[in-house]
Amino acid sequence: MNDTRFPDSTKASRGEANRIELGHIESIWEEEILPVLTDYVAIPCKSPAFDAEWAGRGEIDRAVSLVEDWCHSQDLKGLAIEVVRLPGRTPLLWLEVPGSGPDRVLLYGHLDKQPEMTGWGDGLAPWTPTRRGDRLYGRGGADDGYAVFASLTALRLLQEQSIPHASCGILIEACEESGSYDLPAYINHLAPRIGAPSLVICLDSGCGNYEQLWCTTSLRGLAGGVLRVEVLREGVHSGDASGVVPSSFRVARNLLSRIEDEASGAIRLPELQAQIPPERVAQAAIAAQVLGEGAHARFPFAPGAGPVTHDVHELVLNRTWRPYLEVIGAEGLPALRDAGNVLRPATAFKLSLRLPPTVDPGAANRRLREVLEADPPHGASARYEAEWGAAGWNAPSLAPWLEVALDESSRTWFGREPVLMGEGGTIPFMAMLGERFPAAQFVITGVLGPESNAHGPNEFLHVPTAVRLTGCVASILERHAARAQS
Ligand SMILES: [Zn+2]
Repeated sequence: MNDTRFPDSTKASRGEANRIELGHIESIWEEEILPVLTDYVAIPCKSPAFDAEWAGRGEIDRAVSLVEDWCHSQDLKGLAIEVVRLPGRTPLLWLEVPGSGPDRVLLYGHLDKQPEMTGWGDGLAPWTPTRRGDRLYGRGGADDGYAVFASLTALRLLQEQSIPHASCGILIEACEESGSYDLPAYINHLAPRIGAPSLVICLDSGCGNYEQLWCTTSLRGLAGGVLRVEVLREGVHSGDASGVVPSSFRVARNLLSRIEDEASGAIRLPELQAQIPPERVAQAAIAAQVLGEGAHARFPFAPGAGPVTHDVHELVLNRTWRPYLEVIGAEGLPALRDAGNVLRPATAFKLSLRLPPTVDPGAANRRLREVLEADPPHGASARYEAEWGAAGWNAPSLAPWLEVALDESSRTWFGREPVLMGEGGTIPFMAMLGERFPAAQFVITGVLGPESNAHGPNEFLHVPTAVRLTGCVASILERHAARAQS
């Protein structure tokens, strides 16, 4: 681990958290956190959407117990630990650390995981934690097992130095990768204890590099479902039928062209577009400068393939504020080895659209249905069944104190300025929290940086970033408490 110290001359103007030594956080991570996080990576605690038998299998409960035991080993003043279990739902770990004053902070993480995925590199596997240099490989370390450790350790660091912080609730759910469908019930259940936080910290997001604090200013939404086109009751000899019976694939392709320009990938429906706020356009330009070629070079392109454009500013805006479509599954097409010369009766595509942060996913799905089902070619049967929708999120404007806190913590722990950027993914509950706590400020950050590949093969936690982020959370909590007192 290389050690970026902030120059001494500027320390005086910075927060008390500067008394915390980077080396101290590193040793907490190496000696106390990573051994437990390694055990956590080995647990196949897949989210309910990927394991219908999750309750009987007990892996989520094992993960909760492991983390709960570690929390009990932490010597924090007033720490209360509870595993909350609402009937028929995934369990939720709720931690409370009392602080000074009536102000409250909510910190969030999750410990359910994505499924295995194929393509793991030599010697790597989803449930086999493997440390290589700065990286701890395996499923769930970065998404999002590290969050509870980072959150509680940040509070411990403040308490060790007698630095004031607000009362903090740490909420660790086990349903996030399934769309957080259990979370609203828990937020209701815990409402009196959550209170009205003035700050929400979520450690389940991404970063553009491992050299700065990255704050997520927006998230895209998600809409999707199945488009099914039927032309026949059963398949027939294509020599007999082609030219007479229309191909269901061609009809489906034609319908898709109503929503997407197949040459550029641009979505054609104005209802699925958003006006990008000028502030976000300007922030994307700065992020583009920091990212440079890395904005696209980090993807595992096949030989000869490249990004949709080399204009990095446009790429950042595409990825954060524009809708894009992917066909994520198909039915009605046999595997290649089983394919005969037949005119197939039907083609079905599962569509997944990332939506701009401010587009309503329900309205998007209704519009998709109207457009895809209207007057299909040759009178074919075309049906679109919406299967999911998740709202995106656009952060409220940064309060001046938080702008200072982000700048200060990034410079203190990373030695560089922070970057504000939207993320292309979706954190389903963020829209809900944004609505429920309209007065709160939000710090959405994370360790999912270049190559870390959450949801794919070779997921890893970049340990030095987790260490520095822990310092950042401490610094931000310190600044937050100082703001509340002034
Ligand atoms: Zn996550």
